[in-house]
Amino acid sequence: MDKPGRNDPCYCGSGKKYKQCHMPADLAAEREQRAWLDASRELRLMLVEYADDEPLAELLGEAATRYWDNYYSADTLPLMSQSESERFLDWFIFDYTLPSGSRPVEDFRSTNRSNLNTTQSRLLDQWIEAGPMSAYELTGYDRQILHLKEILSSEELDVFEPAGHGNAPIGSWILGRVIPVDDRLEFFALPAYIPPEEIGDLPARLDNAQSTFEGTTADFMRRHNVLLVHHALEQAKKAGRPPVSRLDPHHTPEGVPHRARHDRVRIKGPATLPGENVPPMTQTRRKAI
Ligand SMILES: [Zn+2]
Repeated sequence: MDKPGRNDPCYCGSGKKYKQCHMPADLAAEREQRAWLDASRELRLMLVEYADDEPLAELLGEAATRYWDNYYSADTLPLMSQSESERFLDWFIFDYTLPSGSRPVEDFRSTNRSNLNTTQSRLLDQWIEAGPMSAYELTGYDRQILHLKEILSSEELDVFEPAGHGNAPIGSWILGRVIPVDDRLEFFALPAYIPPEEIGDLPARLDNAQSTFEGTTADFMRRHNVLLVHHALEQAKKAGRPPVSRLDPHHTPEGVPHRARHDRVRIKGPATLPGENVPPMTQTRRKAI
């Protein structure tokens, strides 16, 4: 919606000038939305720093080996591309089980609650309650809104993604973590996708793993969602694509391996308001993982 000028008639048809009618309420709503987006961006950074610092950092090697099916390990962690780092840390923060039985994000809440403002605190509670990283069938899209169906529960949801659907065709499985931010859903990190022709036996593999699992669908996915990643890696290898950027002969590392710890890992920048900076739909995105 195009906003009227201060002295133009208000869009509501009251006949009053915009500044004397809906403008104050609109500005307040914008400030509120901006506060959520700022809180969301800051919280993402805090979580990533928390995971990438002592004492959790020493668990990252083992976790990466599992997540990446041995394509990365403690020694090669710094060789992850930025999007690989984002996806891996997303999983580590929210789905990895620490020796204590809790998840890093839960420990973060216990130790950092007092450092959070009200908005950050509310977001964190919602993110902890949100489902695990999962696969969602892309059933349609409208610019930056993706229409998705969770592959195990068939739950349908609309998710805002600044990059739109990228190169992912309809029917692809989008891999990512869906989190609420204010009144919409977003991905925590840039999602990956598996194109329709590469989904193959993945549903059967999930079925098979689920048949011996006791617990809810969400619990199952939290424990076994690395299967989605492993499948994507296998498909890439089968198709002759480098499964991870480290093995891509054309890959130029985004920086050098020995740069400062926190430069290594960065989550995507500020989320955009709807309609802001709409990227072209042809924007490239790494295939699969
Ligand atoms: Zn009005």
